[in-house]
Amino acid sequence: MGKNAETHTFKSEARRVLDIVIHSLYSNKEIFLRELVSNSSDAIDKRRFAALTDTDLAPSGEYEIRLEADDESRTLTVWDNGVGMSRDEAIEDLGTIARSGTREFEDQLAEAKEQGESQSTLDTLIGQFGVGFYASFMVADEVTVVTRKAGEDGATRWTSTGDGSFEVSDGTRDEAGTTVTLRLKSADAEDGMNDFVAEHSLRSIVKKYSDFVTYPIKLQTTRTETVSGEASTDDDAKDDAKDDAKDDAKDDAEPETREVKTWETLNSMKAIWTRPQSEVLAAEYNEFYKHISHDWTDPLHVVTLKAEGTFEYTALLFFPERAPFDLFQYDTPFGLQLYVNRVLIKDQAEELLPQYLRFVKGVVDSPDLSLNVSRELLQQDRHVSLIKKRIVRKVLDELAQLQSEDAEKYLKFWTVFGKALKEGISTDNDNADRLKPLLLFGSSHHASDLTSLADYVSRMGEDQEVIYYITGDSREAVERSPHMEAFGDKEIEVLLLTDPVDEILVNVLHEFEGKKLQSVGKGAVDLGSDEEKKAAEAEREEAQKTHASLFEALQSTLDEHIKEVRLSTRLTESATCLVGEENDMSAHMAQLLKQAGQEVPVPKRILELNANHPVLEKLQSIFDADADAKDDRLADYAHLLFGQALLAEGSPLPDPAAFGKRVIDLLV
Ligand code: ADP
Repeated sequence: MGKNAETHTFKSEARRVLDIVIHSLYSNKEIFLRELVSNSSDAIDKRRFAALTDTDLAPSGEYEIRLEADDESRTLTVWDNGVGMSRDEAIEDLGTIARSGTREFEDQLAEAKEQGESQSTLDTLIGQFGVGFYASFMVADEVTVVTRKAGEDGATRWTSTGDGSFEVSDGTRDEAGTTVTLRLKSADAEDGMNDFVAEHSLRSIVKKYSDFVTYPIKLQTTRTETVSGEASTDDDAKDDAKDDAKDDAKDDAEPETREVKTWETLNSMKAIWTRPQSEVLAAEYNEFYKHISHDWTDPLHVVTLKAEGTFEYTALLFFPERAPFDLFQYDTPFGLQLYVNRVLIKDQAEELLPQYLRFVKGVVDSPDLSLNVSRELLQQDRHVSLIKKRIVRKVLDELAQLQSEDAEKYLKFWTVFGKALKEGISTDNDNADRLKPLLLFGSSHHASDLTSLADYVSRMGEDQEVIYYITGDSREAVERSPHMEAFGDKEIEVLLLTDPVDEILVNVLHEFEGKKLQSVGKGAVDLGSDEEKKAAEAEREEAQKTHASLFEALQSTLDEHIKEVRLSTRLTESATCLVGEENDMSAHMAQLLKQAGQEVPVPKRILELNANHPVLEKLQSIFDADADAKDDRLADYAHLLFGQALLAEGSPLPDPAAFGKRVIDLLV
């Protein structure tokens, strides 16, 4: 052990992830190199940015990443002159899995394994999570990191076999940066291990995954050179050439050769966003996306944006295919990478995206921003807010285009990110007209497909003036709701809103293309043509008069819970239902709030009775025969009707025991 040596254990989550990695679940092992190169490139970005304001931090030579492979010792080294790590940082950063969602990842993985899922499913899960630096342990049985932080003198040596602990001691390194050395697993133990010390495969792995990295990735290569007369007196060269000479010993005429080591740059280094979209292969975009997003899955969609003129910038944006585990943890950092003339200024500039578009990944590069733009002041920068505005519009327009041209892809997008997009309806008024058409909802019209508001409106009958919706916990629950009966009967389409945020959404949505949104559980619903409505209304008024005294009696019994008893416009089968006033909070909303720990009373509602249900006649006859109001049955029935109306809509009973007793009394 080296000087100042200490042994540390990995944080528990990191240890479990390492375990998964080491037991090599992931079949595409070569991506470990992409992860290491990506870390080196990030570290150089950081040093380059820091050196903008403190030139002492700049390296003596060019920024670069070097790969060295040694066949004999079976080691592969990734060297960079990036920002490096202090001892504390090395302990913290390399000993922890910083990503949130580690737990869910493990649970999902365990479940998938238990259910005997295929390797490709497991790959997708691991890919979705991404394990960064730890990917090294898929191919190495020992990893050593020697790192020195820019601006500091001492270096740190970190080493681990991935068995739960790592050792840290003083190290030596001539200049700032990081060297990661992998001792590759034996080729017997694991297939394909020889590839990672072979020049040609390293060359193709770098080309495949890291071509766009803006710093040179150099590979040390060995060439065999013919030695001229004088050079053969050179001792080193003779040694180097010995093996070759032996092979060729039979042929004296063969000239002497020697091995020469040179550095070969493997990547084109061209910033991918500066190339015209038509010239970039989909595979290149995919790899770039993985590089910036730390996602291991290809993106769902690529968007490019170029502004020319007085204020120039380029943006390259991606919609991921899957949501990160922490999409709805609102303190998760998000944002686009911001470059000024290819120098990274900020890695996650949230100044460039509104929160509801936090799933968008990508880069923005503008030559017209100041290199010294303070990261703290980005928010106030007029140009930055202009870029943001344009990006939002571009993203929403692109989604609209997807929706009309590739419905299947849009549906995929919506299923994953629709919920986040809905937040925009309440937070981004300026783009309401762009956002509303993007919304998709379940519908009573389709068994399983989702529908847009525009499609709903196009199907509205001549007499229908408003867009009807119902909110609830699930499709099954709302489809069974008594509130839906008349709509089903008259074949009037109802939007089925079953996402908890929909309750908030409908409150801010109000209308679409001049058509108001109306809950089937609120206010009066008059369905049919004007004439039909008039006739129904007259009939109802008449019947309402006939039952006026009965309704008063029911009302006074249930006064604590309801504010009115009336005949229903919406029931065809059920005996009763509860209805709110148009602007009242819905019972479903009150329940959601209660689940969230916020008890809010539901405003008193109206008990509606079905004029065609035999129950009404029965109640009326009990009432008529009971002139002295001595028959308790009426009060009991009132409570039973109220209780079953609550149960039918999925609301809890105010006093379940009392309700139960009344039911039993009915039976004996
Ligand atoms: P991620 O890159 O997703 O943050 P990693 O597990 O790959 O996760 O790396 C963990 C952290 O270790 C990095 O965030 C960085 O702080 C540090 N690190 C890794 N490699 C290097 C490197 N070559 N130079 C400097 N720091 C590094």
